[in-house]
Amino acid sequence: RSPASVAARPHPAHLSRELGYEEPPASPSLLNASSRPSGKPSLRDFQFGKTLGEGAYSTVKLATSRADGKQYAVKIMFKVHLTRAGKLKTVGAELKALRRLNGHPGIVAFYHAFQDDSSFYLVIELAAKGEMQSVISRLGSLSTRCTQYYAAQIADALEYMHSKEVIHRDLKPENLLLDDDFRIKIADFGTGKVLENGDQRATTFVGTAQYQAPELLELNETTKSSDYWAFGCIVYQMISGRFAFSSLSDYLTWQKVKKVEYEFPSGFDEQAKGLVQNLLVHDALKRLGAGPPGTPNDPNALKSHAFFAPIVWTSLWTDPAPPLE
Ligand code: ATP
Repeated sequence: RSPASVAARPHPAHLSRELGYEEPPASPSLLNASSRPSGKPSLRDFQFGKTLGEGAYSTVKLATSRADGKQYAVKIMFKVHLTRAGKLKTVGAELKALRRLNGHPGIVAFYHAFQDDSSFYLVIELAAKGEMQSVISRLGSLSTRCTQYYAAQIADALEYMHSKEVIHRDLKPENLLLDDDFRIKIADFGTGKVLENGDQRATTFVGTAQYQAPELLELNETTKSSDYWAFGCIVYQMISGRFAFSSLSDYLTWQKVKKVEYEFPSGFDEQAKGLVQNLLVHDALKRLGAGPPGTPNDPNALKSHAFFAPIVWTSLWTDPAPPLE
């Protein structure tokens, strides 16, 4: 039976405990409270439309609120798949990260979570223009102007995310979505980690080979700086249309990552080259953007890099996006 046809059930308390989260209060903008006496949305409150994307344990569907006609993305995570893969805890982790990050224009807003016998449902902001990966594949690569604009939005969202003590750990163009105005929305916090009790590192092996940082491969640890490594790989890919690090197998890719072995194709924008060289640095402490505030490689230093000279940071999220080219 299709997930959308499953009747909603009450939320079993033991599952909340298992997932390590408390049900958040319903967002008033999501549904008209008077239409649901329980105060909580359920499947019946949405009309499900096309599939927006598929992940390893989830399907993301377009959903329209029956109350006000607003459109959302609903991430449907199948319990059987999650349980079989031992990934049940990742739902709680994703929720925790999403809830902590509500409030930045560059990160998908989270509205609500509910569940039934078969699945968990995360109701999130719709990013209707799809993945940055599809744009890069369609155009071959991005213009310098577009790369400046999108890299600036990613840098700004990363600064916010890290200020909230969240690391993403799987940044890649598939997880950089575009909204109706062609602005960035970072998505997929399934591997997100909320750093607690002053911890600065996470020690689970997660991510995607082409974007994994040397410290994960060598020390089995990820820090905020590892997101800046992935960011360097993304800037490289936007400009050139190719992976910075890639080979016939993940193992061979990792050998290159550990040696920081990559080359710039001819014609690569000089300022972008300078930026990438300051991000793809083996020593995580020295990466641009990764230093604590007030140090020479803090997020402000990243924003001050010459590559971003044309960016007006104060109107980054209100200026129209440049034409995609
Ligand atoms: P993976 O197994 O690749 O890590 P996942 O199961 O964690 O994936 P997501 O990456 O969150 O799932 O979502 C899968 C895909 O669904 C995305 O790559 C994207 O194409 C689409 N998608 C996710 N969230 C949204 C959204 N808010 N708006 C539009 N499309 C979305």
